[in-house]
Amino acid sequence: PWYSKAEQLFRVRGCLGEDPTEPFHSIPYAFKPVPDEPPIARARAELKSLGLHPASLPLGVDIEAWLKEGKTGWDAFPNTGQGKVDAQTGPLAAALADANIKLETGAHVGWLEVSPDGKSIAAIHYTQNGAQKTLSPKLVILSAGAVNSAVILLRSPSAGNGKTGGKGLANRSDQVGRNFMNHNSSAMLAIDPRRRNDSVYQKTLMLNDYYLSDGKGGKPLGNVQLLGKIDGNMLRANVKLAPKFALDFMAGHAVDWYLMCEDLPDPESRIMVDGKEIVMQWRRSNMQSLEGLTKVMRENFRACGYPIVLSRPFDKRTPSHQCGTVKMGNDPATAPLDPFCRAYDHRNLFVVDGGFLPTSAAVNPALSIAAQALRVADHIRKMELSA
Ligand SMILES: Cc1cc2nc3c(=O)[nH]c(=O)nc-3n(C[C@H](O)[C@H](O)[C@H](O)COP(=O)(O)OP(=O)(O)OC[C@H]3O[C@@H](n4cnc5c(N)ncnc54)[C@H](O)[C@@H]3O)c2cc1C
Repeated sequence: PWYSKAEQLFRVRGCLGEDPTEPFHSIPYAFKPVPDEPPIARARAELKSLGLHPASLPLGVDIEAWLKEGKTGWDAFPNTGQGKVDAQTGPLAAALADANIKLETGAHVGWLEVSPDGKSIAAIHYTQNGAQKTLSPKLVILSAGAVNSAVILLRSPSAGNGKTGGKGLANRSDQVGRNFMNHNSSAMLAIDPRRRNDSVYQKTLMLNDYYLSDGKGGKPLGNVQLLGKIDGNMLRANVKLAPKFALDFMAGHAVDWYLMCEDLPDPESRIMVDGKEIVMQWRRSNMQSLEGLTKVMRENFRACGYPIVLSRPFDKRTPSHQCGTVKMGNDPATAPLDPFCRAYDHRNLFVVDGGFLPTSAAVNPALSIAAQALRVADHIRKMELSA
């Protein structure tokens, strides 16, 4: 039930029954999907005419509030309003309604201190407003994101390693920081110079026809979904030499898509620390899936009547779906965390963020992370807090 509970917490809007890869849902969506604007309704019909199965993209977006705040087509930024339901407007607001929960802001965790026997975390060391502080809670839940949780663990002294260097905490398996994954993804612009795309909020479609196989019984390729609306200024950041009016024209006549493929776990794809620096050694894998998805979608959009189809892969400057650095697993020899995200090495430490994911799948990860967080919280409540 946890994924559905996460969808409820983030007030996700969607529609069951359209996506051929849809898993079982224990609770239907509480809100109807964000409706297609006319150019996107046309794109949906065009893809359907090819025998494909475009489906409404599940969105944690309160579209009425979003459009009231501004006619903004791009949403890949922290939203200070109520339109985009993110960690702050969704779960954090719900948590802070509980009188037992206190939020400390501006606190930067540097390292964790282990107990003399090494079996538990004795203290959290952090800075706040320039002051060094410590906290010694019964349970420690580390949720600093896949990069920073690994960094905090690697920077923490373990029994044998002194304060710098060494393997850090929760790292008997030597897997902390390893298996860093992100998605292999591309932006694809399907352009028809005869038709404008005047949508304001266009991110209402996805396509999973190539998620489980390439459509011909071959290997999986990935997920396709709409991007926020690209404008000429965004194109200019990538295409320096073209005149601005040409970029505005292209953007105004494009339907903008995001192709997303799985990055596979690789122990040599790593987050490491080097003194104060964080080193990201991202070794991408499975690029052939992205090539395959790019090829088949280019053919599809051409068949839909778009004479120009442009694509560009995202590079390592946009690791927006980072995961995998503190993976969960059944064997302490190969994974730092058990399936409830408890560190095998330290009984009172849980690491609950994108780091626990053992694989990256080929979809946006936030709800899977939230679902596991709810599952782990329920486990902690039953196992640690019930007495
Ligand atoms: C531009 C962009 C767009 C995205 N769009 C989507 C989307 O549409 N759908 C989707 O599913 N996913 C999306 N993602 C990915 C999604 O945001 C992440 O996968 C998700 O937030 C990861 O959750 P997390 O708990 O692992 O880490 P985070 O959400 O990054 O949380 C980590 C928190 O820890 C804090 N922190 C870090 N280090 C320290 C420290 N040393 N001390 C104290 N606090 C610390 C950070 O400030 C942060 O608040 C997007 C990401 C980006 C960047």
